[in-house]
Amino acid sequence: MSGVRLSPAVSHLKPSATLAAAAKAKELKSKGVTVYDFTLGEPDFMTPENIRKAAVAAMESGHTHYTASGGIIELKKAVCAAYLRDYKLEITPAQVLISNGAKHSIHNVLASLCGPGDEVIIPGPYWVSYSALVELTGATPVIVDTTEESGFCMSADQFRHAITPRTRMMMLNNPSNPTGAAYPIDKLKALADVAVEKNILVLSDEIYEKLLYTGAEFRCFATFGPEVAQRTILVSGVSKAYAMTGWRIGWTIGPVDAIKAMDNLQSQETSNPCSISQYAAVEALNGPQASVEAMRVEFEKRRNFVMDRMRPWRQKFGVTFAEPGGAFYAFFNVSACFGRPLAGGATVSNATDFCTALLEQSHVALVTGDAFGAPGYVRLSFATSLETIQVGLDRIEAFLAG
Ligand code: PMP
Ligand code: GLU
Repeated sequence: MSGVRLSPAVSHLKPSATLAAAAKAKELKSKGVTVYDFTLGEPDFMTPENIRKAAVAAMESGHTHYTASGGIIELKKAVCAAYLRDYKLEITPAQVLISNGAKHSIHNVLASLCGPGDEVIIPGPYWVSYSALVELTGATPVIVDTTEESGFCMSADQFRHAITPRTRMMMLNNPSNPTGAAYPIDKLKALADVAVEKNILVLSDEIYEKLLYTGAEFRCFATFGPEVAQRTILVSGVSKAYAMTGWRIGWTIGPVDAIKAMDNLQSQETSNPCSISQYAAVEALNGPQASVEAMRVEFEKRRNFVMDRMRPWRQKFGVTFAEPGGAFYAFFNVSACFGRPLAGGATVSNATDFCTALLEQSHVALVTGDAFGAPGYVRLSFATSLETIQVGLDRIEAFLAG
């Protein structure tokens, strides 16, 4: 320890648990061990060829300098055109801010709109970074626990009861990381009605908007009418739908004055997101969309395979779960296995120890639900090959069997 004094905001900050779990799996791999890695939520597919080519063309034509801090106008227009095409939502480029991935977008929104004394309602289980990024602003996360029986969807009544005079915002993630919950449209509409009635801002993180399965439908939150749109800040990006996690392009859509404030912040903090990635993202949005559906179909096959394998675990091991309607995660409760011998004689008493023992014994890497405010649960990302999934599930089953 060097004894450097950290700022109060950062001194309590934990590293992202998903990235930490992935790093742990990588470390084991670097020692020559074959690890069945289900930690990271990132598509394993190549970024489609038309997008890669657009990036090369951008470099060759000299788009290798600073751009406007909030992104190039071509990309803002492409975002507007995509929302009109996909959701019939009319927005203008002044309502769009391009950032370094959706995580950065979320940070910009929270840092610009929330501060000490504010409360931010977050349905739990929630994505790791939500609570950390809220706390970084000095605001207080208010977690509303949802249940497996409700498909991990927060009800309008739960939302209403969590609201206090200090409530500034509600953060919604539909489809959800880590639960895979895809809100039925009537439940989503009921939340929108409460937001209007109580005049609460909603940060709607729709990064998994293109990844829905078995007939689940997606509805963009801002499309419930002008009163809802006025109170909605949409966040999304190219990472998941176009297999572009490394390119770091996300966006925020919201009221012009709020977007302007976020652009000011970004201009001081990071300047523009990567110029080349922005041109590639223009092609992702404006170019052919067939690859998005092709990848979704593959994810659906994997999802169905995982569910078919896991359903008997309910009876066999007391494992419980709600079947995911979107994103690419299986989220299951393994607490019935706590305190009884697992493979290799290991006994565990919580999900974090479960993941550690599973990695050590069986070389399978999952993320503990403790990171998502869901003790007893573990998350398996099925954004990896069917072969890996097949062997990985065999190993988890053998581990559970003891
Ligand atoms: N929101 C959710 C719910 C996520 O799972 C992720 C995962 N990466 C992000 C935002 C951030 O995405 P990006 O890679 O665009 O920063
Ligand atoms: N969102 C992904 C996940 O949850 C990527 C990791 C991260 O950004 O935390 O695995």
